Amino acid sequence: MWSCHPDLLARPVPRYTSYPTAAEFSAAVGSAQQEAALARIAPDEPVSLYAHIPFCEEICWYCGCNTGRANRAQRLTAYLDALCAEVETVAGRLGGRGQVGRIAFGGGSPNALTPDQFMRLLGAMRRAFDAEGADISIELDPRTTSADWFAVLGRAGVTRASLGVQTFDTAIQEAIGRVQPREMIVETVAALRAQGVSSINFDLMYGLPGQDRALLSATLDETLALAPERIALFGYAHVPHLLPRQRRIRADNLPDQPERFAMAALGHDRLVAAGYVAVGFDHFALPHDPLALASREGRVRRNFQGFTDDQARVLIGLGATAISEFPDLLVQNEKNSGRYRMGALAGLLTGERGVARDREDQRRAAIIADLLCGRAANVGAFLGDATIGQGLAPFLERGLASLEGEQLRITEEGRPYGRVIAVLFDRWRTQQPQRFSTAI
Ligand code: SF4
Repeated sequence: MWSCHPDLLARPVPRYTSYPTAAEFSAAVGSAQQEAALARIAPDEPVSLYAHIPFCEEICWYCGCNTGRANRAQRLTAYLDALCAEVETVAGRLGGRGQVGRIAFGGGSPNALTPDQFMRLLGAMRRAFDAEGADISIELDPRTTSADWFAVLGRAGVTRASLGVQTFDTAIQEAIGRVQPREMIVETVAALRAQGVSSINFDLMYGLPGQDRALLSATLDETLALAPERIALFGYAHVPHLLPRQRRIRADNLPDQPERFAMAALGHDRLVAAGYVAVGFDHFALPHDPLALASREGRVRRNFQGFTDDQARVLIGLGATAISEFPDLLVQNEKNSGRYRMGALAGLLTGERGVARDREDQRRAAIIADLLCGRAANVGAFLGDATIGQGLAPFLERGLASLEGEQLRITEEGRPYGRVIAVLFDRWRTQQPQRFSTAI
């Protein structure tokens, strides 16, 4: 059972899907650095690909993703043309180097594309990167996944799918602008399984307007009955000053911090009691799922897609705003869709912001990843740092972290405080706290 320490949760902290975080990106990094990083990829380097589809048929009011309405077929076609051109450009730079083991489609909602458009994109990626045998995963909006789509997912050999479920409660669905009846989720899960999708993830949320522990528990009941292999339980962050679409969500009945903590704890306890393995601070996986296996073997990694069993150190992002990760570089593609299309269609790399990771960044990134992924982190080099020592003290005193020699580890009790402990090793995190939300 977790204990709530409000004094330790007050500080806004990053989610650390990368270190340094995207808040550190600047125009000092762009396509030239992207080109050089691609040139350094060895012939046998494991590489994962991520294709970003920044469109959804309906925009949910809570959403923090870079996505817009897929209301004009011509817009999607133009974007897809540019994306396929970028695929050719990046693959051309690799010239056959790199071994692509995974292809992920996210967004937005990849199923804002038509099934034919999806097959065109997947075919282009498989051919260009010689990636016939790659594992394929996709994020899907159950509200708009048609029968044609299910058939195509089977034909394409998709093995993993992630569904935005958030809550089964109808009143809360209306309050957050995402109405999807329970039957729709049930039918989507059945159709995915029939097409051979062996790992289904549900994204769920706590801290929603009008939500309490009983309502969260009811959503967990529905979820457990469907037994998705993976569950991500995120805390809703209400930041309408950063995300104007959230202004449509009433703020007067949002759960307060103690109730949010109680919900996170309830979710953790119920899912673990049901047999799920807790991974990091917000992911859960059934014991046979590769993510749970990776967790048991200390192989979980954290990247832009969250906690993952993917071991590739190179992730190439394709599409507007997509981020590529190299050991020594993070680089984000052009955000403006018009400029992205122009650059991609001209055969250019479209990286326009990012951050180089020097050895110090890489060392700190490894510590932050180890802590968040449940491993012991060697913090010997920082034990003489008085600021870090003072910051760590309350967590050690309250049993939320343990230090044996130079090995720092977050305890089971400390799981919800992981990001607040990790931030102590973030050399960039002295300003801009307003850009982040609290850990719970
Ligand atoms: S479907 Fe997903 S990506 Fe699209 S608006 Fe809703 S939450 Fe955001």
